[in-house]
Amino acid sequence: MDCIFCKIVKGELPSKKVFESEQIVAFHDIQHDAPVHILFIPKKHIPSMNDITAEDADAISEIHLAIKKVAKELDIHESGYRIVNNCGNDGGQLIPHLHYHLLGGDKLGPLNAK
Ligand code: AMP
Ligand code: ZN
Repeated sequence: MDCIFCKIVKGELPSKKVFESEQIVAFHDIQHDAPVHILFIPKKHIPSMNDITAEDADAISEIHLAIKKVAKELDIHESGYRIVNNCGNDGGQLIPHLHYHLLGGDKLGPLNAK
């Protein structure tokens, strides 16, 4: 499958990984929107939030626990951070493989910025 994030999962494209388990992986975003910008993805190819099923609950739950762990490791757990999932065209989703952005390390702008 011609999916950038599936290629990162398989090691066919390089990434700066910060967390990996059987079901999920987290790595630095190639373009920083904040001093800390990490992407968390399920290893399974799920195109978007619209496509999640009850079967994916474990992986999605694990993503939340990994976000907390990585936020602590990167020392932004006390200053705070934001989790973003872009879904579809209006949501600004560019890569059609479910992912959550972890943004932090600086005071972030308003959530509804266009
Ligand atoms: P989204 O707009 O939510 O689909 O976000 C996709 C994100 O993937 C963007 O922030 C990109 O900078 C990031 N991205 C694209 N290609 C790569 C890559 N090869 N490695 C790491 N991040 C990437
Ligand atoms: Zn994929």
